[in-house]
Parts: sequence; C-alpha cells; structure tokens
Amino acid sequence: MPEVVCIGSLNVDLVVRLSRMPGVGETVTGDALERHLGGKGLNQALAAARAGGSVALVGAVGDDDGGAWMRDELGQAGIDLSGVETVEGVSGTALIEVDHGGANRIVVIPGANGWLTPGYTAKQVRALAPAAIALAPLEVPPSAVLGALREAHHAGMRTILNTAPVPPEGLPEGLLEVTDIVVANEHEASMITGKVVAGVASAHAASRALRDRGATSAIVTLGGDGAVWSTPEGDGHTPAYRVTPVDTVAAGDAFCGVLAASLAAQLPWADALRRASAAGALATTVGGAAPSLPTAQAIHTLMTAQEDS
Ligand code: ADP
Repeated sequence: MPEVVCIGSLNVDLVVRLSRMPGVGETVTGDALERHLGGKGLNQALAAARAGGSVALVGAVGDDDGGAWMRDELGQAGIDLSGVETVEGVSGTALIEVDHGGANRIVVIPGANGWLTPGYTAKQVRALAPAAIALAPLEVPPSAVLGALREAHHAGMRTILNTAPVPPEGLPEGLLEVTDIVVANEHEASMITGKVVAGVASAHAASRALRDRGATSAIVTLGGDGAVWSTPEGDGHTPAYRVTPVDTVAAGDAFCGVLAASLAAQLPWADALRRASAAGALATTVGGAAPSLPTAQAIHTLMTAQEDS
C-alpha cells in the first residue's frame, strides 16, 4: 500500500527554444525541442517518491504517445499508477516557448486532466486507502479535488491541499473543511484571503485566516523568505536554506511532495517543514521542473551542511 496518494495533473511539457518570439501570423525557426515531464500532480508525486516516499498517483492521461511515455517514466520512478486512467484523446500538454533572453510564453492544454470527476477520484482514493497522506494541487477540475480529499478525510487519511492554481471562481465550498494542511504561496494566500500577503508578518495573518476558513493547519510559502505556519499547537516560521537559485519552477511542488513524504514517514512537524524547505531550495538550483526535484540524499546533504553554520 502506498503511504502518499497524490491526486492531480499529468502533463507533457514541450519546450521550444528560439531566438525571439514570433509575431501574429509570423513563422520563426526554433533551435531545439525538448520534452519533459510536467503537471503539478506529477511533479509532486515525483518529488515525494525521490524523497523516499511510497507513492501512488490518481489522474488521467490520453491514449497518445505522451500518455504512454509518462506512464513509462513514472513506472520507472516506482510510482503506483493503478489510479491513472487512460482516456481517449490527448494528454495534458504545455507548449512552452523560451527565447534567448529567458522570457517565456506558455499555452496549456488540459487534455485528459479535464476528464477527472469527483466520482472517479473518490473511487481511486478509496481503492488506495488507508494511505497516510492524500496530497492534491488544483490543476485539475476543483470538484475532482474536493471528491478526492473528502473521501480521504473520511477514510482517516491526513489531507494536504496545495492551492496552486487558485481557480478563477475560488475554492469549492467545503474544500478547506476536509483539509488538514493547506499550503499556499503568497499570491494564492492573497487571492483566497482577499488581503495583501507580502512578507512574514502578513503571511502569519494569512495562515491564521486560512485556518479560520476551515483548514486545521496552514502553511504560507514565501520563496527565499522560507515558510510560515499556523497549527492548533502554535505558529512558527521555517527559514529558507541558502542556495543560489537559477530557476524557481517547481519549488512549491518539491516543497509539497517532500512535506507529504516526510509526514507519512512520521517525522515531527518542524522536521518535516525543514525537509520540505530544503527540497524547495534545491529545486531552484536546477532548471526545469521534474529534473530539479531532489533526491533524499541531496536533501540530507543540504540540511547537514547548513545545520552547523
Ligand atoms: P511556489 O513555487 O509555489 O511559488 P515558493 O516560491 O514560495 O512556492 O517556494 C516554496 C518553498 O521553496 C519556500 O517556502 C522555500 O522553502 C523554498 N524556496 C523557494 N525559493 C527559494 C529560494 N530562492 N531560496 C531558498 N529556498 C527557496
């Protein structure tokens, strides 16, 4: 049985590198085409697995090449894919154009991710219970996340909701009530609480506001300023590890996946937060999403190196 069940999106990221962005109606020759694993559900599952967790993923891929490729890669990473359905049509795909100056333009096609329903996700979570933790970001239909976390909550699992991205219509009614730990970055915390969140003091207020909205505990991540949290036992701030960032993509995914794996491994709260922070920091030191997710060994090395200094 898995310890962590991750419910969410699986995407093929197609990255085109080019000298400059085309204008409307214009054709520009690209330099290179790369294919990477992506999608927040996939990234978080992979982050938890690399950190040593036993992980299952609930989601959907298309019956295309991309879907077969993602299954293959995730299977090799040891992730249980019994909850990943193959549906007719395209897999979730992100078309990412990056110019030589590093500017980007991204088009996301939800594809199979849009197929997920509350009935499907709840059924798969039920089949995978009793895992210790259910973890869900919000890149799939929000009703499917609600179905999954509600089922997990009733099955006695600890639920973690990552609010990335906040749906345009806001969080579904009742979602925070079945959430044990909500993880939001500054921008998401602002959107949900309706208050400006920038820096540690306002993040403390936001973490308490998220608990008032129904979550048992709340974490607000602050990039290079670390993360603040509020729990029934008390509030605190986990400082960031010192690194030289090259690309902050997937820092939040690394943080959430490793938090889930660490809590599933019964680490105490403060230790799990430190481990998640180290993973988030390491993810900023390597370009891209999936390639930047650290191993348990890399996390341990960073934590040990900075404990004494
Ligand atoms: P998101 O990617 O969702 O916007 P954040 O940027 O807040 O999330 O990053 C999540 C966590 O990753 C932070 O709380 C922190 O622990 C770590 N992190 C992110 N950026 C840095 C950084 N520049 N230096 C050190 N740690 C970082």
